[in-house]
Amino acid sequence: MPPKHSIAIIGGGIGGLTTALCLEQVGLTNYRVYERAPEFREVGAALSIWPNALRVYQALGLLDALRPHWGVIHRGYIKSASGNVLSQARPDYELPTVCMHRAHLHGMLVEQLPAEKLITDHELTDIEIGDEEATLHFRDREPIESDLVIGADGINSVVRQAIIGDGAPIYRGYNCWRGIATLPAAPTGYSSETWGQGARVGIVPIKDGQFGWWATCNEPANTNDEPEGALAKLKRIFGTWHDPIPDLFDNSGDILKNPLGDRVPTRGWSQGPVVLMGDAAHPTTPNLGQGACMAIEGAYVLAQCLRKYDHLPDAFARYEDLHYPRSAQVTKQSLRMGKMGQIENPVGIAMRNTFIGLTPDKVSMRMLDRYFGYDVTEQV
Ligand SMILES: Cc1cc2nc3c(=O)[nH]c(=O)nc-3n(C[C@H](O)[C@H](O)[C@H](O)COP(=O)(O)OP(=O)(O)OC[C@H]3O[C@@H](n4cnc5c(N)ncnc54)[C@H](O)[C@@H]3O)c2cc1C
Repeated sequence: MPPKHSIAIIGGGIGGLTTALCLEQVGLTNYRVYERAPEFREVGAALSIWPNALRVYQALGLLDALRPHWGVIHRGYIKSASGNVLSQARPDYELPTVCMHRAHLHGMLVEQLPAEKLITDHELTDIEIGDEEATLHFRDREPIESDLVIGADGINSVVRQAIIGDGAPIYRGYNCWRGIATLPAAPTGYSSETWGQGARVGIVPIKDGQFGWWATCNEPANTNDEPEGALAKLKRIFGTWHDPIPDLFDNSGDILKNPLGDRVPTRGWSQGPVVLMGDAAHPTTPNLGQGACMAIEGAYVLAQCLRKYDHLPDAFARYEDLHYPRSAQVTKQSLRMGKMGQIENPVGIAMRNTFIGLTPDKVSMRMLDRYFGYDVTEQV
């Protein structure tokens, strides 16, 4: 694609910013990122970045900038609530499996980009899509016309509603609390996912005794924890689980809560000069820890396709052909893992735990290799 095109990226999350960096790398520098928030900032707890996504940051030359922020997963366990090890794995790839504060990853991405290309306080409210260009309507702002629009505006994407129009995301039956705890006594590199009855807890290592954690529970979407309060509720549900779970909650700062959902994988990510990426294109439940990783892979694929093809429809078609099957596989597998992890029926739990306990660790790792061991930079 010739670099004269003006490109609008809607949304300055990890997907939108990684797309901007990938566009810079291929010489398509005539873009702006439009973010609705008053500043480019990420809230949230920890994020696991698997080797498949680190490949992209390696290709962008960003590993040294990220390294000071990350902790490495040396060993991961699946445990029962009482602490029995059902399965264990040691990630063994050329690149590490790492975890970091979301804000650190996001902040590093912002630092790499020219400030004048990052536009805040621009909330897209509507988009008119023509054959050659699109008109963007922002709240309380003048409209903007653009030759290429990349919808990176997340799971509730306005751009997706203009292209696919599939309404609200699907709630999958469990909410998720998240936080970052300081646990100096916990082993470096420790990571676990613990499966109880309709409830789970995951722990990932960050740095210097800090661990990211998440906890899920089957309940209606957005259940309000008051008047009990999130902290008391978490201690009531998980307080008798194995160590270090009971210590997580009192040793954490802010505790966030979200409903978990996704969408049915759907093709048709582009219309005219407009295309979707990241959660706007392929939102997934976080059970595989691959949502942001897929956005990072997708950013790379999209930029490479725009570099290679002169015509947008060809570039978009190739991007979707390459990235749809992979992201759909992640969404479906993640949903299955969530269903298995959230089982409530005691017989089902006994069967699940027996099945996992009997599956050799090597077999489980091999099944996950297709997600984590993938090198997108060799595919495009
Ligand atoms: C509990 C939980 C844990 C997770 N853990 C992991 C993990 O460990 N590893 C992993 O890889 N993934 C994980 N994910 C998934 C990951 O968070 C998402 O896949 C990722 O953030 C998607 O990035 P994105 O940039 O596409 O969307 P978002 O992060 O949602 O960013 C969208 C951006 O667009 C902006 N925006 C939205 N609407 C508009 C608008 N109308 N106009 C302008 N701007 C707009 C938003 O303000 C935001 O900045 C997890 C998700 C959850 C919920």
